[in-house]
Amino acid sequence: MNLTPAGSNKGVGGLAAVQALGESIPDPRELIADRAYNYVKNRIFPIPVWRLGYATIYDLHPNQRGIHPGPEGTHTIWIDGVLYADSLPEALYDLDPIETDMSDDERARLERRHQARQAYAYVPHDACHSGGTRRYRGPAVQPARVRCPNNPVSMRGSLSLPTTSCTRGEECGCGRTITLRDTDYPDLRMPVQHGTLAWEASYHRRVGIESLFADVKQNRLHVHRGYFRGFGISRYTLLLGFTLAALNLLILFDWHFKRELLDPLGRYLGEREPERTPQRRLRRIAASGRHEKSSVTAESGR
Ligand SMILES: [Zn+2]
Repeated sequence: MNLTPAGSNKGVGGLAAVQALGESIPDPRELIADRAYNYVKNRIFPIPVWRLGYATIYDLHPNQRGIHPGPEGTHTIWIDGVLYADSLPEALYDLDPIETDMSDDERARLERRHQARQAYAYVPHDACHSGGTRRYRGPAVQPARVRCPNNPVSMRGSLSLPTTSCTRGEECGCGRTITLRDTDYPDLRMPVQHGTLAWEASYHRRVGIESLFADVKQNRLHVHRGYFRGFGISRYTLLLGFTLAALNLLILFDWHFKRELLDPLGRYLGEREPERTPQRRLRRIAASGRHEKSSVTAESGR
């Protein structure tokens, strides 16, 4: 955790937290961050975390969604942070993001439309370059995802691929390879299209950190206003360090308790391994309501 004063720039505080991870995170590196972090200036957070080697997965603020022209002369368009060939049918320009409270039918219907749009997207062609650039290939570049009359090889592709309405001989955006810079929508560009099921599965890994916060605030500890006495970021940071260490012990204790094992702290203190008998197991199941209480007792006893 990196603590910053309330109201300070989220990007400044967030970047310091990512930097502190250093080399402890192996490749490939992905960073899932909520809207606070891609709603700051690109040079404050989105670009620096890319330069640290992270692919970013964000949620988009409704204000960030929309259509912009692609690089000049390339016949491409940006939609919600993804570059598409302008052969994309207009009916697929504006698609709602899939949301968890939609019905299964609605989610499936939207996902089919997102997949139809995905065929026209520019996708990464190679790794990021040190100069802050990356090449992307268009939908009719082999292996093609659409059939475009201007790209004869793509026309030999499977008939199950969509055929674009491009006019032979008129320039289009299907068969190009385009170099994008880090400064091209780093707050919106992601490895997966925003609003798809793949994006949802990826972004919703954030429940991991949310459940940790719930543990800190209510499920295991009760860190609220007044929990730390005194003021100052240094004091809070130091005390929070002890608090998180204690939380860690509680999590370890519960994990081992459920499996009738001695937790690492108990082992360190030289306590006896719990007996593992079927009767004990039965008693525990019968008294499962008392389970939480017994772990709290253990906590205050230490
Ligand atoms: Zn085309």
